[in-house]
Amino acid sequence: MLLLAKRQSLRALKNLGLQILLITSLNVITLASYAECPLPKLPRHMNVPGGIAIVALEATTNYPPTAFYNNQRTLIIAHESKPNVWRAIVGIPLDVKPGLHYLEVVSSNGIEPVEFYVQSKTYPREKLKIRNHRKVQPLPEDLPLIEAQYLETIRSYENWEYRDLESLVLQLPTEGRRSSPFGLQRIMNNIPQNPHSGLDIAAPKGTPVIAPKSGKVINTGDYFYSGKIVFLDHGQGFITSYCHLDTVAVTTGQEVQQGEVLGTVGNTGRATGPHLHWSVSLNGVRVNPELFVYE
Ligand SMILES: [Zn+2]
Repeated sequence: MLLLAKRQSLRALKNLGLQILLITSLNVITLASYAECPLPKLPRHMNVPGGIAIVALEATTNYPPTAFYNNQRTLIIAHESKPNVWRAIVGIPLDVKPGLHYLEVVSSNGIEPVEFYVQSKTYPREKLKIRNHRKVQPLPEDLPLIEAQYLETIRSYENWEYRDLESLVLQLPTEGRRSSPFGLQRIMNNIPQNPHSGLDIAAPKGTPVIAPKSGKVINTGDYFYSGKIVFLDHGQGFITSYCHLDTVAVTTGQEVQQGEVLGTVGNTGRATGPHLHWSVSLNGVRVNPELFVYE
């Protein structure tokens, strides 16, 4: 009887052991599948003009190195699993020449160049008809205002404030049809213009525009070309802007959370109809917003 009980408990133990083994291997499988498909935290790497280079930087210390590209400080994010490995997320201007480019990385050894490669890309052309021709060929009296607003825009995009960033993924700021992609070579009323520096999302006037990630409102305005505009700073030179708004619901200095309303879609400034012109900027450079969106 005692022997039988021992045998039964031994069998029970073996069964239990097998179950533990199964559970353990299931856990391994589950963990492995999570490891293979982690939630994205970074934008897609696309090393072309208007794209993003993700450059790995190894440091001997556990604090992030400082890197500059074209004298603009770049965003640095910690590697998700490797200690003392950092990544510079570098915005590549639309007008750069393909080939080797360099970051200047400041470390305890001094300033060291770290190279990355930019491939060529040709963006399609788009012809547009703007009803108000003054918005395509401004009058001489418009020029001082345009110049001042241009400088204010550049200053806003070059703002650099440290924020610890875990993810750089963005949600779309409004619902609607993506009507005009980033980078198009635009010809308005038969006059060539600067390439398209944002993503257009067509939506009815009054559609809410939300913050695609938390940040601080660093500037708002009503500009000749951009119309009513909001600049949102997510930290480390990662700045997004929202143009042609009908109404603005935030003020400079305000902290906003992801999903909070910034304003509504409109057609203020130079626009063919109600839409949001959405720009994303890194190290003072406008890059393709679609690289940050996984919807
Ligand atoms: Zn646009």
